[in-house]
Amino acid sequence: MADYDAVVIGAGHNGLIAAGYLAKAGARVLVLERRSIVGGACVTEEPWPGFRINTFAYASGLLRPQIVDDLELPKFGYDPILCDPQGFSPQPDGRHLTFWLDEAREQKEIAKFSEKDARAYPKYVAFWDHALDLIEPAMMAPPTPLNEFIGTMPPREAETMLRELFLRSARDFLDDWFEGEALKGALAAGAVIGAFAGPYTPGTAYILGHHNIGRLGEHRRVWGHARGGMGRITEAMAGSATHWGATIRTDSAVCEILIENGSAVGVRLETGETFRARAVVSSVDTHRTFLQFLPPGTLERPVEDRLRRVRSHGACLKFNAALEAIPKFTAAPSPSYLVGAVDISPSMEYIERAFDDAKHGRFSREPTIDVYFQSLVDPSVAPPGKHTMTCFVQYAPSELRAGSWDDQRDEVAETVLATLEAYAPGIRRLILHSEVVTPLDIERTIGMTGGCIDQCDITPDQIFSFRPVPGWSNYRTPVPGLYLCGSTTHPGGGVIGAPGHNAAGVVLRDLEGGLGKPGGNPPATLPG
Ligand SMILES: Cc1cc2nc3c(=O)[nH]c(=O)nc-3n(C[C@H](O)[C@H](O)[C@H](O)COP(=O)(O)OP(=O)(O)OC[C@H]3O[C@@H](n4cnc5c(N)ncnc54)[C@H](O)[C@@H]3O)c2cc1C
Repeated sequence: MADYDAVVIGAGHNGLIAAGYLAKAGARVLVLERRSIVGGACVTEEPWPGFRINTFAYASGLLRPQIVDDLELPKFGYDPILCDPQGFSPQPDGRHLTFWLDEAREQKEIAKFSEKDARAYPKYVAFWDHALDLIEPAMMAPPTPLNEFIGTMPPREAETMLRELFLRSARDFLDDWFEGEALKGALAAGAVIGAFAGPYTPGTAYILGHHNIGRLGEHRRVWGHARGGMGRITEAMAGSATHWGATIRTDSAVCEILIENGSAVGVRLETGETFRARAVVSSVDTHRTFLQFLPPGTLERPVEDRLRRVRSHGACLKFNAALEAIPKFTAAPSPSYLVGAVDISPSMEYIERAFDDAKHGRFSREPTIDVYFQSLVDPSVAPPGKHTMTCFVQYAPSELRAGSWDDQRDEVAETVLATLEAYAPGIRRLILHSEVVTPLDIERTIGMTGGCIDQCDITPDQIFSFRPVPGWSNYRTPVPGLYLCGSTTHPGGGVIGAPGHNAAGVVLRDLEGGLGKPGGNPPATLPG
């Protein structure tokens, strides 16, 4: 008899959510995590005494409200903080564009740069509200084929959505709406978060939509902080899963998925310990799940070759720091302008130039930077009077043309600080401690291949029913009893939780209906 109904590999947020739903439905669940803390890319650590730093993910908002309710996350410590302003974009000429929650106030702000853009802004917001009405429900269920999804819309609307969202670059999309470079630069930053793509790359308009799904309270398209740090989100998820009866073991690295008669029947840890389960649910990416954990010969060679070609590019790194005080941005009327994202992405061309370096295997000489000073709104993350700063920096390609990421830390820190100094002179002198988290560090620490923050790239050919590969998108795999539940599945990365939610539904149906019954699993072949 199996030890568990389901063993979940990895305690990132999706693994924990899958475990929570499974346990709540009465399944016997074991979660195995390689690190000594839960959370995967959504963790808060204390590299320097008293400073709680979001090592990887730093902005919350994408997490689906239904999951928050179903798993009762506020009861376990989930407490998001909405910021107003949402963002602050200092410009090289000393001006600033600030993003306020109130639409009328925002229009006035945009009008500083262009009256025409200010008039277009409410229509732009309405476009997204409508598009998100269509996309959001599709995120909380296994993906339908893209043509069917588009086919549910009236024909003219289907054509518009296909063209605008799935085929266009962020540049072409935004150029149709606006003329001001400051506005387009700030918005385009959301179209390339974590992507190995520039705003001129076709398909990036969809990524803009993906990062527009944030919801906090009544507000749509928003981001915020998680009180206590991003790790509080996953600690709440772990608390919820445990409350419903799941067991979570840290320091438990899985090295093999056990296969008997072609079906997954459990896992082996690096220590040699084994656990048998009716379902093995992996929150780890496809590269590791299929190419490292499955015994050789489980999948045909051509299938393995196709899986190797799932694109998982690194594109970013983090520069995290402890600060003596909040820096003075020349363009900021007061520190209260810095409570949300401080974006160094003054134009679409600036971002594209930063990407040009990455295309040629170099860290950007002038990177885009998304800076968060969480301690400004949440003093719990720093000692009294001191502050935290996390910088999400692009572009940092997984593969460097010369040298290794381990040799580049000083150079990276220097480039980031030189870029920030142009907007906040003297920032360098405020730094008490700092760390550079490279794509290689991301891969080594949490196992995201290439340091890809979405486990695999979000591109039009790797979304919906194409994610992670065409034909294997319903969380089942060709190996009966083996499921995927991480960001490598629909609808992709970010602390969204939908992959874990959707996968748990499929696993539960199969647990009730009898695992390994023919019909449910995709074929073991892959096109292309
Ligand atoms: C630098 C960075 C910045 C980001 N910024 C944001 C942001 O601001 N906002 C946002 O919403 N999203 C952000 N993201 C994206 C988001 O954090 C991820 O897409 C998401 O957290 C992935 O969750 P997951 O559960 O699918 O996978 P993961 O978090 O990757 O979880 C997988 C888990 O499996 C564990 N594991 C790996 N190998 C093994 C093994 N052999 N045995 C057992 N366990 C194993 C890992 O340790 C990890 O805990 C960022 C990501 C990164 C890396």
